[in-house]
Amino acid sequence: MNVQAMTLNGQKAQFVPGQTILEVAEAHGVEIPTLCHLKGAPPTGACRVCLVEIQGAERLVTACNTPAGPGMVVETESENVVKARRLVIELMMASGEHNCMTCEANGDCVLQDLAYRYGVEAVSFPRTPNYDRTESANPLIIRDFSKCVLCGRCVQACNEVQVNLALAFKYNAWYSKIVTTVGDVPLEESRCVFCGECVQACPVGALTEKKARYQGRSWETTKVRTTCPYCGVGCQLWLHVRDSRIVKVTGVEDGAPNQGRLCVKGRFGYDFIYSDERLTTPLIRKDGELVKASWDEALDLVADKFKEVIDKHGPDAVAGVSCARSINEDSYNMQKLFRSVFRTNNIDHCARVCHAPTVAGLAAAFGSGAMTNSFADFGKAKLFFVIGSNTTEAHPVASTFLKQARLGGAGLIVADPRATDVAKMADIHAPIRVGSDVAFINGLMNVLITENLYDKDYVQKCTVDFEKLKAKVLEYPPERAAEISGVDADTIRAIARRMAEVKPAMLIYTLGITEHTSGVNNVLSCANLQMLLGNVGFECGGVNPLRGQNNVQGACDMAALPNVYPGYQKVTDAAAKAKFEEFWQVDGLSDQMGLTLPDMLNGLPEGKIKALWVFGENLANTEPDIRHVEHCLESAEFLVCQDIFPTETTRFADVILPSAAWSEDDGTFTNSERRVNRVRKVSPAPGQAKPNWWIFRELAKRFNHEWASSSSQEIWDNEISVLVPQFAGIKYHRIEADGLQWPVPDIEHEGTSFLHKDGSFSCGLGVFHAVEWTPPAEVPDDEYPLVLSTGRRLFHYHTRTQTGRAEGLNYLLGEETADISLADAQALGVEDGQQVKVCTRRGEVVAKVRVTEQVPAGMVWMSFHFRETNANWLTNPAYDPVSMTAEYKACAVRLEKV
Ligand code: SF4
Repeated sequence: MNVQAMTLNGQKAQFVPGQTILEVAEAHGVEIPTLCHLKGAPPTGACRVCLVEIQGAERLVTACNTPAGPGMVVETESENVVKARRLVIELMMASGEHNCMTCEANGDCVLQDLAYRYGVEAVSFPRTPNYDRTESANPLIIRDFSKCVLCGRCVQACNEVQVNLALAFKYNAWYSKIVTTVGDVPLEESRCVFCGECVQACPVGALTEKKARYQGRSWETTKVRTTCPYCGVGCQLWLHVRDSRIVKVTGVEDGAPNQGRLCVKGRFGYDFIYSDERLTTPLIRKDGELVKASWDEALDLVADKFKEVIDKHGPDAVAGVSCARSINEDSYNMQKLFRSVFRTNNIDHCARVCHAPTVAGLAAAFGSGAMTNSFADFGKAKLFFVIGSNTTEAHPVASTFLKQARLGGAGLIVADPRATDVAKMADIHAPIRVGSDVAFINGLMNVLITENLYDKDYVQKCTVDFEKLKAKVLEYPPERAAEISGVDADTIRAIARRMAEVKPAMLIYTLGITEHTSGVNNVLSCANLQMLLGNVGFECGGVNPLRGQNNVQGACDMAALPNVYPGYQKVTDAAAKAKFEEFWQVDGLSDQMGLTLPDMLNGLPEGKIKALWVFGENLANTEPDIRHVEHCLESAEFLVCQDIFPTETTRFADVILPSAAWSEDDGTFTNSERRVNRVRKVSPAPGQAKPNWWIFRELAKRFNHEWASSSSQEIWDNEISVLVPQFAGIKYHRIEADGLQWPVPDIEHEGTSFLHKDGSFSCGLGVFHAVEWTPPAEVPDDEYPLVLSTGRRLFHYHTRTQTGRAEGLNYLLGEETADISLADAQALGVEDGQQVKVCTRRGEVVAKVRVTEQVPAGMVWMSFHFRETNANWLTNPAYDPVSMTAEYKACAVRLEKV
């Protein structure tokens, strides 16, 4: 590396060409004050606080945007610098109504710190117009214009870091003001998504979190690092804690994967844990009523009932559903309880409703069922192919890196039936018909092969079964693919040619690919395409499924699945069985694959499953066809629910076990990019609620199994990382700061940022699969002429058990709508906001119409966040035959005017 040297405050300072003076100073422990400088955004030099003196230069320069030069002699606190800095500070204090000497900010304002540091007391300049309007109608962000110094950090944070394009400077000179991009209006009337990045960036307290306003100043709080309890991005958070209570959340700057960024849920969705509705004591059903019980009573009852069922009907008459929101150690202990104590593999979790096709499909193609690459690659990628992913709403912080790369010139191709925000940013948006993914991708591959554009060298060296793939995709010329997908043949050709031009490209997908009866085939098609292009095994390439729940990757890794032990070691493999029998000191582990979640539910009315244990899942809202699901739950002979809140599912329980929530226990989550991150406790669980791993351990005791590990750390360090080769090098002491990405085969290993390096696949050679397109199980007809597709919305998560109890999020989205096109609204004779009845063969709901250009004609789009208007009253319980994932993305529907 070319290293050069300069002199900084009389000391030699080495640097790499391209570094700014500010960066060199930081690297050498010299503090240059800054105010407008924002990491992750280009320096502007707007505030001029970072002025420094360069020997021989005519005038002072701003350190944040002046490159260091060889031989340069720089003074950061010379007499000239200090004099100029005082003037700059005084000018900023004249903006608005600052009186830093009396302001109550005390430690929460950079300008006040600078005023004290440089002794600036009085302001001799005339004051700028006082924008005294304080905007505080919304429940999350207060804008106090009287404190704004127009440094522009909030504008950069919004437009260049999060790329939400919601803030701008307006008016001229003396009257300059920061407003929203749609005009000088309140945030809630603008395109603001309330990520709060502007608040985190504001150095002077002009923007503050309303929830935190009177709860704790910086000197009254301590900071605890943890991992976000919402989506699979796994953002790193600082919890600002006062008296064991979280009063504010900020992002961990320089922390992987989010580099300080958060979305609205991560920043503002924490206060559900203080809800009065928390479950605080065990409950058991007596004479039809749920009544309070002691832990001994509740656990004895569960143990007795499970023993009775197992004795009478065998171990496979009991089943368990683990929780993808809870820590790895909880899922590990739950599957250990079912396997080593109950002797059944009837254990599953909500990956069944989302990414089970990913686990099956990518394992078949590559030998590993996980996201191949890292979120860090998003910021550096040259081309993205995004299919079936509403990235900005479902994985907001990941999308910020993608959007930044796009602004920096990266190519973006989006295949999605809806014109989502990410589709609107694309070079090419292919509005494919719901459920046509295989035909569309086969069409792309047809062009790559017939036009000789694929990576022949890679295919020959790194893959098998190309000829089988070729024979199949030759059946899908662009015209046929166009007929099925609705994307014209020329666009299909253009996309294929563009993808062949840029190497590597990243393929990103979410549930638009997996939640189909063809889910596994869709995933195999994504794998086929990327192998054909030679894009797997490289930084900024690969196949990247973005996982939905915060720890669904971890729950899979921990084997809350019916076919594997932790680390995907097959239950049918004799060596794996022997290994776990020896470690758990049991014999007779079952080598029969267990039941999947849909089979468990269907097994209840059939009498095959007598006792079901549901940990942290709200099956009565999340599974397709709610009426049928409720019938199944009602049929259970014995139902245990372990949760933090009463839910629609706990209504059916015989025993409810109250458990610790996210910030009430130590542990680990594993995010989408395979990064094992720490989760930390800030307060004890309320009442008698207990850590989940403890509950499973106590139950095992009642079957005479004494488990040695008595903390999350012991479970991870002494069991999981010993049993799972991918985790051998991960111990708690190694992940105190940033987590590690598995595989981490030994204690020296730094983790794996991308899999299958240079096309060297986990299974040896990558396997092509010849995949045939099949339509959705239920397609529109005369009676139900539209397609219903479902998904998630930005402001809520899952069935709102958490976000529905977080102050502010319901304000931002208080009800569900049926999203339709203007054409369909006009055909039905309804306008935006009017109510309609949404009917399928399973049921009907009444919801307001949202007329939007996002949704194409012929489609109705809804989420499953709200109970009464939950799309799962309508969805079709038709399943992918391999993964048993339901077709949430497509069924036939009719709208009726109410
Ligand atoms: Fe949390 Fe996901 Fe938002 Fe990050 S993007 S703050 S992990 S919900």
